[in-house]
Amino acid sequence: MNIFSLSPQLRHCSLVAALSLLTCTLPLSVTLAASPGLRPAYTYELRAVWAHYYGIPNWEQTIQSLHQANFNAVFPYMCSAGVAYYPSHILPVSEKAASHDYLAEATTAGYKYGIQVHARMLVLEALFASEQTKARLAAQGRLMRTSGGDTLPWLCPTNPYNREQLIGVALEIVRNYPVAGLQLDYIRYPHRDCCYCEHCRRKFIHDTFGASPHSPLRNGEGPGVRWPQEVISGPYKDAFIQWRQQQITSLVAEIATAVKSIRPHIAVSAAAFPDWPSAKERFGQDATAWAQQGLVDFICPMNYTADIMRFTGWLRQQQELVAGQVPLVAGLGPFSDACQFDGPQQLVDQILIARGAGASGFVVFNYNQQFADDYLPYLTLGVTSTPAPLWPSASLSRP
Ligand SMILES: [Zn+2]
Repeated sequence: MNIFSLSPQLRHCSLVAALSLLTCTLPLSVTLAASPGLRPAYTYELRAVWAHYYGIPNWEQTIQSLHQANFNAVFPYMCSAGVAYYPSHILPVSEKAASHDYLAEATTAGYKYGIQVHARMLVLEALFASEQTKARLAAQGRLMRTSGGDTLPWLCPTNPYNREQLIGVALEIVRNYPVAGLQLDYIRYPHRDCCYCEHCRRKFIHDTFGASPHSPLRNGEGPGVRWPQEVISGPYKDAFIQWRQQQITSLVAEIATAVKSIRPHIAVSAAAFPDWPSAKERFGQDATAWAQQGLVDFICPMNYTADIMRFTGWLRQQQELVAGQVPLVAGLGPFSDACQFDGPQQLVDQILIARGAGASGFVVFNYNQQFADDYLPYLTLGVTSTPAPLWPSASLSRP
């Protein structure tokens, strides 16, 4: 159940309209200070930022600035599929982390200021990995393949060595660091044209035909599935699209289960694309299934747009699909690739809309100097003028 579902939606909608009207006629500071409705109408709210592995200028000051602005969580990426920014025993450690344990620095500062640190894994993409690491993964046959045979810098989710690595990294993080949560990002395929590697071919055929006497795997290849033609546009197209979703969803489940087995109350969350039906087909990312199956504790859709109508539409659709199964934390993108905001008022507007839509909080992409200098002080005048506790710990664990 979404514990914030009782938020008075109409009240918030009218606040947005009222705010727009007020900002036309009053000085900004007066507008915000004089608008008590800008404060959240409920007690609990996750107020977070997505961040790099490093603080700006360091973790102490980043966390302190978030604390002063009444934020309560930060989601820094601490590894990808091919590099870590903490002293990992599994992943190659970045040269940039040679003299820093960035995750330790973040969690130490987080504890000091009461800011939750949710370590973020860029799960399947070998983002920021060295060329040497990517070449090794390619040579080991662990990277995704396109229909044309090209290798992509993404781990294939069906490869058992990849699954072992990913679960190992998740466990390494939650065992060794007092993180409040683990967030799965890049938990998807990069596009529609993958993965057609040998692992995927054999697993798709096995999962589709099982031990049937008509299995194409019997007697060698048998008549077989013409690979990849028949899964791209042939008779197995729909089955393959669905099967791709299952590979990602089962990976989410395996990581979450492993993490919960040693830290039951940790929050496992996921970052997701905004258009869930489309993402399900194109990227194998089925956030609806994650919610319905209770695989994660909350979902952060990356609703990166400056278009209020589109933003509102995405949120409405996501709330319908989540159907109250897990909290929804709205991702807002003032500094995203998809859009750049003109200023902090656009962020305020989206925070109010997210509250009105019953979101359980918001997470901003991305913490940077401009956000610290221009956005945080502005938010603190109104929408984050008072502290908001996070969910009670019990609600952060899986039901
Ligand atoms: Zn594959």
